[in-house]
Amino acid sequence: MLQIYPVYAFNDNYIWILHNEKYAVVVDPGIAKPVIDYLNLKNLQLTALLITHHHNDHTGGIIELLEKFNVPVYGPQSESIATLTHLVKEGDEVSLKELCLTLNVLDIPGHTVGHVAYYYGKHETSMLFCGDTLFACGCGRVFEGTAQQMYQSLQKLADLPAETLVYCAHEYTLKNIQFARTVEPGNLKLEALENTVRALRSQNLPTIPTTILKEKMTNPFLRCDHPEIIQYVSKHLGKKLSNPVSVFSTLRSLKDNF
Ligand code: ZN
Ligand code: FE
Repeated sequence: MLQIYPVYAFNDNYIWILHNEKYAVVVDPGIAKPVIDYLNLKNLQLTALLITHHHNDHTGGIIELLEKFNVPVYGPQSESIATLTHLVKEGDEVSLKELCLTLNVLDIPGHTVGHVAYYYGKHETSMLFCGDTLFACGCGRVFEGTAQQMYQSLQKLADLPAETLVYCAHEYTLKNIQFARTVEPGNLKLEALENTVRALRSQNLPTIPTTILKEKMTNPFLRCDHPEIIQYVSKHLGKKLSNPVSVFSTLRSLKDNF
């Protein structure tokens, strides 16, 4: 049975560990120690590392893990991460034999230029590991790419099956909901979501995974064509916006300063 376990790291990072009874694959190990502790606790053998982008909070633990385990490291072809052994890009498959799982690589530039996601979609189960691109009720900052690229990357993820479980790399949900409620106060789903999320966080539980369906209903960055959001950003800018990329770009800069 496949399990997906969140290792909490730094202030708000999740390092996802996919494992069965024997083998484990780790996504974005920003730090090695808590990962090694979990592997030891469960008596798991590490078989691969998957990297979404080059930021240190996603890659900082690679070297220490490689000192203990000689495993392949998959990561984006168009970013220079010295420790990668397998460079991947859109259309590639990553075969994780020990977990009986084959993941598809998606290019989702914007947060960084080469950011990739890993997607599994078969039968009733679909899951997505999307690093710092799509968050619950939010999205990553546009550091290296353009707003247009980030918008398209988010659209690509939004087109995945509605039931897809979304495993992002940060616990930003509550703050994101607060922003979402200011830009779309009429969206009643946000109030219900905030209650659920507050209850989880008060017990220190993760609010992740989310799903593509939930995100389409609540995430303002996936709702740039909704009248209330268009109206909010247009009012803020003092001119009528209709192009969803401009709406996205304005929303993103409002969130940067929220
Ligand atoms: Zn990042
Ligand atoms: Fe990050």
